[in-house]
Amino acid sequence: MAEGVWVIAEERDGEFRKITYEVVSEGRRLADALGQSVTAVVLGNGMKDKAADLAQYGADKVLVADDARLSPYTTDAYVAVISQLVKNGDPAVLLIGGSVQGKDLAARLSANLGVGMAQDCTGFAAEDGNLVIIRPIYAGKAYAKVTFENSWPQMATSRPNVLSINEPDASRSAEVVDAEFSLDDAALKTKVVDVAKDESGKIDLTEADKIVSGGRGMKGPENYEILEKLADLIGGTVGASRSAVDAGWRPHSDQVGQTGKVVSPNLYIACGISGAIQHLAGMSTSKVIVAINKDPDAPIFQKADYGVVADLFDVVPALTEEIKKYL
Ligand SMILES: Cc1cc2nc3c(=O)[nH]c(=O)nc-3n(C[C@H](O)[C@H](O)[C@H](O)COP(=O)(O)OP(=O)(O)OC[C@H]3O[C@@H](n4cnc5c(N)ncnc54)[C@H](O)[C@@H]3O)c2cc1C
Repeated sequence: MAEGVWVIAEERDGEFRKITYEVVSEGRRLADALGQSVTAVVLGNGMKDKAADLAQYGADKVLVADDARLSPYTTDAYVAVISQLVKNGDPAVLLIGGSVQGKDLAARLSANLGVGMAQDCTGFAAEDGNLVIIRPIYAGKAYAKVTFENSWPQMATSRPNVLSINEPDASRSAEVVDAEFSLDDAALKTKVVDVAKDESGKIDLTEADKIVSGGRGMKGPENYEILEKLADLIGGTVGASRSAVDAGWRPHSDQVGQTGKVVSPNLYIACGISGAIQHLAGMSTSKVIVAINKDPDAPIFQKADYGVVADLFDVVPALTEEIKKYL
């Protein structure tokens, strides 16, 4: 019988990504509710020394698949290895961080295993020994409660930044085990030949704790400088609406929304953004939303926790100066 909560760690350049700590922490909470244990699965090249750290966030066991062909990530290699581990280990729950990489992995993995899978979940619970998840539907207008029927493992991805990370507990330890698997070169159809990194050093939108976003109300690309200044001051990242991206003011990697990135920062400041449903789909799970807009009837105010009905070109510089006094 399937048993245990498994979470898939995500590494880049030999470091665990933040989403890893989110899924390990949620795995712990679920395992406690289900009366089961947490196994973190780490794939990579030379990650074994770091693997034990996951115990502090709630892992009871860490299964390490170490192979040069597992770093950097490729869908083929990850799916081949995780499928074998899942078939051998028979977990009840399989949780994957819903980053770009995690969503790609989960889709192929669920097809490969022939099990159901729920993407982009924002809430997890256990009921009658089974996983129950909450996921936004209709571009965030409603939330669906989803359960699995006779499908093991019960598999889901979590929206980045939504799950809280446990306080690390240095007294916890985990059994670190070398995973047994085989990887056939002939089955690896893709090979990463080069990785072009964003040299700006800015935190990726999906991981940012604070986002200052600008829309058509910014009036032109040069005006984003005032958003950059505010973002730099508060340790945030600049985002944009699709209108701003379509106008060529910002790169597509900055776009928040249904056809851009889904973000859940602690603070989202929307400047000159009307709040179309497709934009809200990408940011409505932000913890605190601040809207600055000239139009009191702009739909963004219905989602905002704090709203300023004013010209953003007055408010943003004034806000920046005011914050400086406190830093
Ligand atoms: C299939 C599909 C997918 C889409 N995907 C996305 C997506 O991923 N992300 C996305 O954002 N959109 C997306 N859209 C587009 C979406 O419908 C809206 O058109 C877009 O979000 C509007 O962008 P905006 O709010 O910047 O512009 P507008 O709707 O034009 O709003 C500009 C706002 O700025 C305010 N403003 C103007 N000047 C000032 C000023 N000086 N001070 C303060 N406020 C000012 C105005 O009052 C207005 O509310 C999608 C649309 C479709 C059909």
